[in-house]
Amino acid sequence: MATVAASSLLPKVQEFLSSGTKKGFVAGREVDSSSGETFATHDPGSGKKLSDVAALQTADVDRAVEAANLAFQKQAWARLAPSDRSAMLHRLADAIEKHKAVIAQIEALDAGKIESQAQGDVQNCADTLRYFADLAQHLRLRSTIAVKHHEAWTTRQPWGACGFIFPWNFPFLLIGWGISPALAAGNTVVIKPAEDTPLSAIYLAHLAQEVGIPDGVINVVPGLGSVAGAALAANPRIKRMSFTGSPEVGRLVAASCGQNLVPVKLELGGKGAAVVFDDVDVRQTAEKLVGAITFHSGQVCCDATRWLVHRKIYDSFVSECVDRLKSVRVGYQLDGGTQMGPVVSAKQRERVLRYLTRGKAEGAKYVLEGGLATVEGYTGNYVKPALLAGSLDNVAAREEIFGPVAYLSPFDNEDQAIGMTNQTDYGLANSVWTTDLGRACRVAEAMCAGNSWINAHNVFPHGVPYGGINKSGMGGGVLSIETLFDYLRSLSVVRPL
Ligand code: NAD
Repeated sequence: MATVAASSLLPKVQEFLSSGTKKGFVAGREVDSSSGETFATHDPGSGKKLSDVAALQTADVDRAVEAANLAFQKQAWARLAPSDRSAMLHRLADAIEKHKAVIAQIEALDAGKIESQAQGDVQNCADTLRYFADLAQHLRLRSTIAVKHHEAWTTRQPWGACGFIFPWNFPFLLIGWGISPALAAGNTVVIKPAEDTPLSAIYLAHLAQEVGIPDGVINVVPGLGSVAGAALAANPRIKRMSFTGSPEVGRLVAASCGQNLVPVKLELGGKGAAVVFDDVDVRQTAEKLVGAITFHSGQVCCDATRWLVHRKIYDSFVSECVDRLKSVRVGYQLDGGTQMGPVVSAKQRERVLRYLTRGKAEGAKYVLEGGLATVEGYTGNYVKPALLAGSLDNVAAREEIFGPVAYLSPFDNEDQAIGMTNQTDYGLANSVWTTDLGRACRVAEAMCAGNSWINAHNVFPHGVPYGGINKSGMGGGVLSIETLFDYLRSLSVVRPL
């Protein structure tokens, strides 16, 4: 390393970053790329290199899938009693909690996350492991079926090696959401982290080995999406695939899985609406939505990026939001007092700026201009929050920007608000804001998406399914008992009497 201001880092983080090229982790061993290729991962807040990482190739990924299959067949993992597997997963959660400060700092550096938010992500990963570890102990795996002249039952079995491809916005949290149900059900996993944020996944693989998770149960294959990701998606020996990322890449992954008839779960992007009625506390609602759009610099798939506001309160709401957004402190993610850190890469910053320009060119009005932000002492990927307003046909109202940009539009009545909410190709998450609970429930259920929230945005209690429809995903979602069942195949057994 030696490129980051090392004095502010935890000793264990310094040790990890200065330990040379980070390698993949397959069958309990560190692995290099067979081609010797590496890629660099950078600190988005300073632009400096954090580490080189092995860029695994197709043959390396195929070996990882073999290792996961072998571990499934030969290791006791799948055959362990659910309570014993659960104990191991709780041990992994304990280790994550013990190393929380270290993992969170690595995540904050790699993803550009504010450290306290990264700590929340790490805790959430541990909580998800515990949730599925506990749930798996209470599943009824065998159900008798009453049929004439036959004894019959169904039993549920783990599938085998499961593949996971993750994005860069919540790397560690999403690993928890993804692999916890698969592992709790007795499957083995191969993880392909995003090339912008590979470090926390690699750290996790080592922790898993330390706590005694058998070799080959958790494998990590860092590399480029078009190589390592594509190889994982195309491997016919994967029994289930899970992809979290953009709809564009999701289509490619689904096509590869389709060729092999491998079931696939897609968790994709969104263009969520917040519908704000005229009976709300304007100040409080503005504060919450400003908090949501600036959280992790707006790089949140389920964010409220279209703010549909009742015409009666439109002006006062907008003025409250503008005041708050103007005072958001943009800064380096590890500096205390920073409210909004950088976006993940120069490419992502360009994407945000391009959408602002395109939105304006198509007739949207800048309510708050946004654009490049400068942070003294750092040459990172900083942008200011922005607000646009106008027709929902505008490109900035239709497409996912993935930055701190919200698009405003007024409405006059409930039906119109529902119609505007559903005027999108996406279908991930929306929210309705009102003190009239009857209306809140009506509108929440009329919104066409996987998730509706009432008087809040971004709410994920373990046990409530979270997933998308249309361009936002398919395959059942995450975080609930149904997810655990997704990782158990059903087998019917029949004996004529
Ligand atoms: P992305 O689609 O560019 O990349 C996601 C992953 O796919 C990365 O690991 C990447 O290396 C890999 N990849 C790239 N090309 C590939 C290929 N040809 N074959 C296989 N894998 C390939 O997405 P991103 O930019 O990392 O993440 C942002 C997107 O993720 C946004 O659209 C966001 O909304 C979405 N997202 C969705 C959820 C959800 O739960 N629905 C959660 C987080 C992020």
